Amino acid sequence: MIMAEAKKKQLFGTNGVRGVVGELMTPELVMKIAMAVGSMRPGTLAVGRDTRTSGPALIAAAKAGLMAVGCNVVDCGILPTPGLQYIVKEHFDAGIVITASHNPGEYNGVKVIESDGTEMDDDNSIAIEDHVFSGTFSAKGWEAVGNERSAPDLVQEYVEGVVSKVPAGIGEGMTVVIDAGCGAAYRTTAAILSQLKCRVLTINAQPDGRFPARNPEPSEEGLAPMADLVCSVGAAFGIAHDGDADRAVFIDNKGRFVEENKEFALIADAVCTGKSGIIVTPVSSSRLIEQIGSRNTCTVDYTAVGSIYVARRMRALLDEGKPVVFGGEGNGGLIYPDHQFCRDGGMTAAMMVHLLSMKKQALSTLVDDLPPSVMLKHKFHTDKAKLLLDAVNKKFASDMINAVDGIRIDRPDAWALIRPSGTEPLVRLYIESATEVVAKKFETEIFDCINPILS
Ligand code: MG
Repeated sequence: MIMAEAKKKQLFGTNGVRGVVGELMTPELVMKIAMAVGSMRPGTLAVGRDTRTSGPALIAAAKAGLMAVGCNVVDCGILPTPGLQYIVKEHFDAGIVITASHNPGEYNGVKVIESDGTEMDDDNSIAIEDHVFSGTFSAKGWEAVGNERSAPDLVQEYVEGVVSKVPAGIGEGMTVVIDAGCGAAYRTTAAILSQLKCRVLTINAQPDGRFPARNPEPSEEGLAPMADLVCSVGAAFGIAHDGDADRAVFIDNKGRFVEENKEFALIADAVCTGKSGIIVTPVSSSRLIEQIGSRNTCTVDYTAVGSIYVARRMRALLDEGKPVVFGGEGNGGLIYPDHQFCRDGGMTAAMMVHLLSMKKQALSTLVDDLPPSVMLKHKFHTDKAKLLLDAVNKKFASDMINAVDGIRIDRPDAWALIRPSGTEPLVRLYIESATEVVAKKFETEIFDCINPILS
């Protein structure tokens, strides 16, 4: 099992470095990170960004840092994070994406991409931080500084890569609505679905880093205008992305938001049909994944929470010769090992079309036919995380326990996860069962255990 790192990261979070522009996130910091990346990963690096207003300034700093330490830079312009990951995997020694993903417009950030297209792991992220804090960079002289070229059309390779993974023309007769949220998806998702022969309607498809239409986080409330459009035009579904389009969420043909664990289960059904193998997902994911997996003779392997843990576990299992068929998180971030080892919102768009063309049923019907699931979620602001976990571990010792990240208790009719946040004094509790009665009963048992500590 993959455990959280021993030495704590200070700048890097779960997916790169993020911060408010002008506060933590400055051109100076980005340049230092880029100099560190270029020192550790010399060669030719690709860079790209989402649509944020601070993107041009910060990507200029990234390029300056890389060239200063002797790297050559290929600027791919605005594109989704998985687009740059695909391009790096195909052509380059490493990459940097300037994005704050789903965070509001005042944020920006840096994701570092390895030559295989995966996000940099914890140990290497800590090594980058060590370089940044100590200032140990190998800045080059005039004869060895790097150069720059622009390649905004490389993103077409990503679009074609996604389209090649599903049967040609499967979107024929299907109307879809895309809400790019003024983020990076405007460059790719409409192109992908058009090439699959869908009839494509778009909203918020203009790049605008002020995000005037909705927050980059694609929440149910923010997608109400798209839901109305889906219903009024009789679309098969609506799809929306976060700011850098590694995640995708859906509105069904009745205008209802599809909860992301249900999305994961449905897409898992499409990916796993006819395959036996392993689905990798964090301990926080719904049991729906196991239930849909078992219909397709697939089992579930649980990791710590975070897409890089999922992606790296998938790689590790494959290296051991195990048949990994799918991976993902219950937040619309899904990973297709036949395509690349990162969350990919464009691939998820294509796979939804594939699912509907295979099943020949409405998305609303497929959602309603999923096994019943009631999930209860709580968060507690407390600095007593260790005491809470120890108490739960002791009380539920006779249950099946998975301690890869927090404590997950699995019973035949329910499961629960109690897990401290990695970044703030907060503990989260999830409980899921097929019925509210069972979920509530389990909740009471856990409350009886933890309330004396919290009070
Ligand atoms: Mg994202």
